Amino acid sequence: MNTEITIELRNRSPMKFTGEEIAFVSTQREDEPRWTEMRIYRTAAGAYVFRRTGRSVMYHRPACGRIFGRMDMTMVDEPDEDWIPCDECLPDSDDEAVMLESDKEHARMAADVRQLVYAVQQRHRDTHELTLTPLGRQLLETAAETDPRIIDAVRERMLAAANGE
Ligand SMILES: [Zn+2]
Repeated sequence: MNTEITIELRNRSPMKFTGEEIAFVSTQREDEPRWTEMRIYRTAAGAYVFRRTGRSVMYHRPACGRIFGRMDMTMVDEPDEDWIPCDECLPDSDDEAVMLESDKEHARMAADVRQLVYAVQQRHRDTHELTLTPLGRQLLETAAETDPRIIDAVRERMLAAANGE
């Protein structure tokens, strides 16, 4: 079912569209303060949106060296129960406010399934080549259950990659 979706992007205006989520994957594990979520939406106009969210529920003391100079922190009086304290500064919420790391949003609109596969690919840290991570592949395979054309585009991309293109 199509709904109005808004993705808040840092230092940019939010991305707004009408569409539906067709795939979601997450690396979240219990007691891990940081994880990655990926989503694919299909818009009412027939385009796709790839969204990757770096989530964090780690909080710090305001003076923690780990967050020195970071502008993406939110100061709060009381941490939520499911937030996880930094193991370096060991924040104690009884005597001061704490700093929560914010989520990092990345979103890209793709006109068709081929562009969508490109959008999901990530640049390898060492080789700088665009590659499909196992999580990205899992996301596309999930989306293909709703939209089978996506798996054709994935196969085409894997074949091209195998040929060094
Ligand atoms: Zn800290």
